[in-house]
Order: sequence, then C-alpha cells, then structure tokens
Amino acid sequence: MTPEDALRRHWGYDAFKPLQREAVEAALAGRDSLVVLPTGGGKSLCYQIPAALDRGLVLVVSPLIALMDDQVAAAREAGLAADALHSNLESAHRGRAWGRLARGETRLLYVSPERLLVGDLLEGMGDRLLLVAVDEAHCVSHWGHEFRPEYRRLAEVLERFPRAARMALTATATPEVREDIAAGLPLRDPVRLVGHPDRPNLVYRALPRTDSAAQVLAAVRRHPGEGGIVYAQTRRDVERLAAGLAKAGVSCAPYHAGLPADDRRRAQEEFVSERLAVIVATIAFGMGIDRSNVRFVVHANTPKSVEHYQQESGRAGRDGLPAECTLLFAVSDLVLHRALAEKDGPLPPDRKRTLERQLRDIGRFAAAPVCRHRLLTEHFGAPYPAEGGGGAAAGPGGGAGAGGEGCGACDVCLGETRSLPPEEALLTAKKVLSAAWRTEGRYGAGYVVKLLLGKEDERIRQNGHDALRVFGLLSDAGEPAVRWWVDQLVVQGLLDVVEERDYPLLRITAAGRALCRDEGTVRLGVPPVAAKRARKAGRGARVPGGARGAGVLLEPSELPAAEAGIFERLREVRRRFAAEQKVPPYVVFHDSTLVEMAALRPRTLEALRLVKGVGELKLQRYGAAFLEAIGAE
Ligand code: ADP
Ligand code: ZN
Repeated sequence: MTPEDALRRHWGYDAFKPLQREAVEAALAGRDSLVVLPTGGGKSLCYQIPAALDRGLVLVVSPLIALMDDQVAAAREAGLAADALHSNLESAHRGRAWGRLARGETRLLYVSPERLLVGDLLEGMGDRLLLVAVDEAHCVSHWGHEFRPEYRRLAEVLERFPRAARMALTATATPEVREDIAAGLPLRDPVRLVGHPDRPNLVYRALPRTDSAAQVLAAVRRHPGEGGIVYAQTRRDVERLAAGLAKAGVSCAPYHAGLPADDRRRAQEEFVSERLAVIVATIAFGMGIDRSNVRFVVHANTPKSVEHYQQESGRAGRDGLPAECTLLFAVSDLVLHRALAEKDGPLPPDRKRTLERQLRDIGRFAAAPVCRHRLLTEHFGAPYPAEGGGGAAAGPGGGAGAGGEGCGACDVCLGETRSLPPEEALLTAKKVLSAAWRTEGRYGAGYVVKLLLGKEDERIRQNGHDALRVFGLLSDAGEPAVRWWVDQLVVQGLLDVVEERDYPLLRITAAGRALCRDEGTVRLGVPPVAAKRARKAGRGARVPGGARGAGVLLEPSELPAAEAGIFERLREVRRRFAAEQKVPPYVVFHDSTLVEMAALRPRTLEALRLVKGVGELKLQRYGAAFLEAIGAE
C-alpha cells in the first residue's frame, strides 16, 4: 500500500495537504523531521499514515492526556490498531492495551511524557519501533508559551532508540522555538517542513473595546446556534459575560479555575458533544478541546502575546470551513498583563525585554490598521501572501493580496476599519500627542481624552487645563475615535502608559516628541462604525477551494434551505452514533463531510465513498444510516 492508498482507504481523502507527504516519506526513510503546520494543517496524519502502512510501531508523545482517548477513538474509526497509555486509564483498559502491545498488534501508541519517562514501556520492542512522534513539541522550549519540564527529559528516552525516526510537530512557528525543538529533543539532521502559517479560512476582526458585553453578544449573534468560545481575562468577567449571554437566550456555560471540577468537566463534555453552543472561559479552557467545528472565538480581552492569540484563536475552524476570530482590544489590558508579570517584583532585564516586545507586538496586531492576516503571518517570519504557493494553506486563486485588494477576510481588508489618509493621521496624532505633552505625563488616558474632546470636567477646570490650546481640539471626532487613537499611539510607541502609585499615567515618548517635529511616521485607523452590520460580510470569501472545488465549502449556517434540512438530519444521525460509542461527534464525521453529503446527496454506497472524509471502515459502519437520512424527505 502506498501512502496515497492509505490516505484514501483509511480517511477517505484524495490528496495530501501541503507537506504531509514529505513528512510521511521522511518517517518511512528513517529520517528525523521537524513539522511546523498551522492548526488544522493535518499534523496527525503525518504520523498516522506511517502507522497505517504497517511497517512497525509508531509512538506518539502527547502532553494532552484529556485528548488522547478521543485521538485513539478517531484513529480506530479510521481503522488503525491504536491504543493509549497514561495515568488516567482504568486498569482493565490498561491491561488490554498492554496485552495488544506485547503481542505486537498495536500500530499506533499514544503516551504521555510522564508515562514514557518511567522507562519500562518499550523494553524489548526497540526494533519494532518505526517512529517516535512528539506532538506539541514547542513544550520543549523555554521560549514557547507552554514549557513543560518533562519534555526536556525526553532526550534520555529517545537516546535508547537510536534506530527509530523522530518527528517533532508543532503549530508554533517562531524561529527560536524551532531551534529549541531541534536542539532539545534532539533531532538528528532533520528535514525541516515548515508550512505557511496563515489560516485562510479564518476571518479576523480586531476592534477597540467599547462595551464588551454588547460586542461579545453581537459576535455570538453572527453565528446563531453554532459552536464558539469567548475568552475573558478574569473569572469575574467570565461570569458577567456568560450571564449576559444566557439572558439573551444563548446556550452557554462559564468555565474557569474557580468552578468545581465537576461543573468544568460537564461544561467541557457538553461543549464537545455539541449540546452546548458557547463556552465563556478564561484561558484555562482549550488545551483539552478538540471540537473541530468551533465557528468563532471571541477575545473580550487582549491576550499576552501574538503566540497566545494564535493558539487560542486557532481553535476556530479546524475543519477548514469559514470561522471568525474577534479580538476586543484596549491598552489597559496590556498594562494589566505587565502589572501581573511584575507583581512579585521587577523582572530580570532579558525577561522584561521579552515581555515588552510581546506586549508591543500583540498591541500592534490589534490596533494597527493593517491587514490582520498579513500581520500574523509576518510575525511568524513568513511572507504574506505566500510566495510560490509552496507553503501550507495558501489559498488557490491567490486572491489574497494580489492586486493590492487585501485578504478579504479581516476588518481592515473588508473596509470595516478604515485608515486616515497619511497627512490627516499625522495631524491628528500631533494633536493627541501634544495633549499628553502639555499635561506633562501626570494624568491618565481618560483625562487626556476628555481634554481633547473639550468636556466639562471639574478637574480639568481646577487645573486650568480648559485654557490650554489643546482643549477641545478633537471635539468633532467623538469619544470612541479619540480613545482608539490614544491606544494606537501607545502601541506604535509614541505614547507610553507608566504606572505610578498604581495609577496608569499617559506619557509622550521620545519617538512621540520626534513625530511632533515631523520626524517619523504614524498610522491611525478609525474605529469600525459599521462593525454591527458586518454580519456575514466577506465570510467564506477566501476558503481554499481544495481538490473538489469550492461551492460545497460553505459554513453550515449558510447552506441553502434544502441542504440545511439534510444537514440537520445527518447531524442527528451523527449525534446518535457518537452517543452510542461515547465519542465526540467529530470522531464519527466532521461537519465538512456532512456539508458535502448534504450538497452532493449521494444515493449509493459507491457515491458516498467519494465524499471527502468517508473512509472504508466508516462507509461500512455508517454508510447505510447516512444514506437513509439523505434520502428521507
Ligand atoms: P492539526 O493537528 O494540524 O491541527 P489535524 O490533524 O487535526 O490538524 O487535521 C485537521 C483536519 O484536517 C482534520 O479534520 C483532518 O481529518 C483533516 N485532514 C487531514 N489531512 C487531510 C487531507 N489530506 N485532506 C483532507 N483533510 C485532511
Ligand atoms: Zn486583511
């Protein structure tokens, strides 16, 4: 059997995603590889296909015990002899898994790093071992956002199996992390397979936060009935936002570390099995979540870094269908992150520099009126749009950026966030900067905004600031715009927020003073007034056509009525099978497969086999039931 045969027979897919073939070939040739693909890029098939080809045992090291059982279930659904060994396993299960391993039946074995480090696991089976795949390999790196000490010790174990190929997989693509992985595992002269980090099926929106409850509700309402995650910084915000959504009739639950473990488990389970649409959570939620049809992720607060944002927002649209990521930004979030990082005292200089860089980068991503796809991609060191089409996820058709019309999938390129023309931006920036200058950095942003708006204010009058030339200088612009400009000047390093006696003060920086002398440049966006009406604008505009052409790649809620009816019936059948087998629905079939079934309406098993995502085993198991649901009127 060739890798292509395995892809078709076990998974029902007819073409590799970018770099999958190269990864499989490296493993089969006994070479180490470093595989960097964005979420949804298809990393698991890189090591599952070698297992399906029956050349030996594939060991997968994964830190996510909570996910392992679902991964094993999904691999078995594809017809692989898969097992997992980790500390949460019931002893009967463990016994059977050991038995299968000892008899040499297992082809794919998931283990936690802790379990592997015990050392007894692979005694006597070293020569059967074809490949060790290390998933979430960025955990080995201090630079990454999820460093795990156990990962540092994997090298000891790997050393005992010099003949097995090693494959490190991650979605985090910063060069430092990449080098850390190669050195830390270590990888021996690895093939480097680095995909393009862009996720063309995601629509990004970064908006100034004005009223988080209303903005979150608006984002949720763009996706009625669909799965989504709302992230908030504090437990209190989580509770508040969840209560607001529930009051508006949204099926949702809160999730944070302060809730009883049982409540958390239930919320997670209901979300994964699609009985619950929306989870409102602190970032404690997500590591163990593999629901592939998350249609939107909203950040009510700014995350700590672009890496965090990519990881968290990346949970949307893993199935490749359109999905939306909304970020509500305020500079005060960055100030809070800094305060939290330094709450036990000042950081050592290098940590401090890293922190400041990370905050600046995420601020720039959220506030600069520049294409979000471009900013994200360039942050990870890749050109945008992808050059030459060699990278992963580069949408065919190349509409992205070609001819300068932008990605068509972010607030900037969709025309929701407009930039001021350069001269106007410079003039406006100078007005804001001079207000901060005139007040000598002794007041907060709120005060400076009021001053610029020319507001009646007791303190302003007492300070005699109503006599300043800057008083009321931007009174026509309106408060949201002026606030937004202050934030944008902060993230561009022209203003700074300095904590003094727990009070954040707005100061002009050296670069800001230089700009007032016409040295340097500035960009300013206007807050998106039309964001509420942004409803489906541009969604799906740039979904990669894939081997079977576009057309069927609609988001479920956008299907024509007849197909939507079939889709709902298919979903019901899927829910039934999933409940019977106690696996999440996506393990049976992904949404994208159901969408395609609803569009193509196959009448025979032969025709059903052609639908993407229908492998041999699933065809036998489920084919008849789904055909019946398609045919029923
Ligand atoms: P990652 O781990 O990189 O986020 P997954 O391995 O979960 O990605 O794969 C993402 C989705 O893409 C899954 O639904 C998977 O079944 C699907 N997929 C993987 N390879 C292919 C392929 N060659 N063609 C079509 N779909 C694929
Ligand atoms: Zn764009």
